[in-house]
Amino acid sequence: MPKHRFIFWQAINSQLLSRDKFEQFHIKLDNVLCPVCEDAPESNAHLFFDCWFSQQVVKMVSDWLGVKVWPNGFHSWKQWLLQIDMEKKHRILVATMAAVIYFIWNNRKTISLTNSRVQLQRLYKRSKNNVL
Ligand SMILES: [Zn+2]
Repeated sequence: MPKHRFIFWQAINSQLLSRDKFEQFHIKLDNVLCPVCEDAPESNAHLFFDCWFSQQVVKMVSDWLGVKVWPNGFHSWKQWLLQIDMEKKHRILVATMAAVIYFIWNNRKTISLTNSRVQLQRLYKRSKNNVL
């Protein structure tokens, strides 16, 4: 899906407008915590690698795929993408990663705007169903 790929590309390049980015523009926010877990300051790295909610979604998707494909940082993410060949299995893994990133980011946006939370199982099913 093009929208998944677009958000995925932005995430890999740490360009999504997470709350830590506002400091770069000298804009003070009342709350810089991750809107999903409210346990740590929000950054692209926190949202996709350290947030317990995202880790749970990634674990469920990885278990479903039967492989551990989630890199532990943006650098290793880029390395992994550069190294893979484009066999069908790898294309499925990349498409799945893009869907997971998209839904994690979308969930974060929904929570920020409406304060309503998507349940873990629902996010997992959305990610999975988008690839099937
Ligand atoms: Zn978090």
